Amino acid sequence: NSTLYLVPTPIGNLQEMTPRALDVLKQVDVIAAEDTRNTKKLCMAYQIQKPLISHHEHNQATSIPEILILLEQGKQVAVVSDAGYPLVSDPGQRLVKEAIENDFNVVSLSGANAATNALVASGLSTEHYLFYGFLDNKSSRRKKQLDELKDFPYTMIFYEAPHRIEDMLQDCLEVLGNRNIVLARELTKVYEEYIRGTIEEVLEIVSSLKGEMVVLIEGKRQETKIFDMKAALKQVQALVDEG
Ligand code: SAM
Repeated sequence: NSTLYLVPTPIGNLQEMTPRALDVLKQVDVIAAEDTRNTKKLCMAYQIQKPLISHHEHNQATSIPEILILLEQGKQVAVVSDAGYPLVSDPGQRLVKEAIENDFNVVSLSGANAATNALVASGLSTEHYLFYGFLDNKSSRRKKQLDELKDFPYTMIFYEAPHRIEDMLQDCLEVLGNRNIVLARELTKVYEEYIRGTIEEVLEIVSSLKGEMVVLIEGKRQETKIFDMKAALKQVQALVDEG
C-alpha cells in the first residue's frame, strides 16, 4: 500500500536530520517539496538523488492531484517543506486530508520544529500551551486576533517574519499589556539566543535583532485574590463571640 511520509527537515543545523528521515527520503519514489531548489540543496548535502515535484500553497490545485495519482500507482511519496515540519505553518494540510480521504497511509516522522524547541527552553509554563503560528500581516486584523487571545491563561507561541517583529510586539503591548515574553532566535544555529523580558524591555532592543524568531508570550496571569483582612477579622470576632 502506498504511503505519504511527512518528513521534517532541519530548522538550521543540518545534523538534525534524523537517520530515519534520510532513509525515508532515500527509499521513496518521489519527494514533494515546498521549494524544490531548497530541497535539492538538502538532498545534495546527503547524497540523495530523487525526483522532486513542487507542492506549495499556490499550486495545490494541480500538485495534490498529481501526488494522489502517484500514490494510486503504488508510489511512495515524501512531503517536505523548507524547514521543520511540513503542515506546521507550511504547506501540506490539504494534501494530507485528501490522502486520508483516499485511504492512503499517512506516516509522520519525528524531527525539528521551531515552536517546540523554543517552548521547552523558554522558561515559560509548558503545562498547557497554544501554538498560534503566524498572526495576520495587517495591524488591524492582528489586533483583532490578539484580542481573542487576551484572556488565554497559558503560554502562546507565535511565528513571525524578522522584519515584522517590532510591529507585532507593539500590537501585543497594546492589546495584551506589558507581559513577560521570550524571543527565541536562530534556533539550532551558531547565534542561537533567547531574549527574555517584558514586551517593553524587548521592544527597546528588537530593532537590532536579526534572523528567524519565535515569539512566546506568557498567558494571562491568574488574578490572585487579595486577602480581605476586614472580612477575616469579622469571622474571627464571630467565633470569639460564639465561644
Ligand atoms: N515548519 C516550520 C516548523 O516546523 O517550525 C516553520 C516554518 S514557518 C514558514 C517559519 C517560521 O518559523 C519563522 O518565521 C520563525 O518564526 C520560525 N523559525 C523557523 N526556523 C527557526 C529558527 N531556526 N529559529 C527561530 N525561529 C525559527
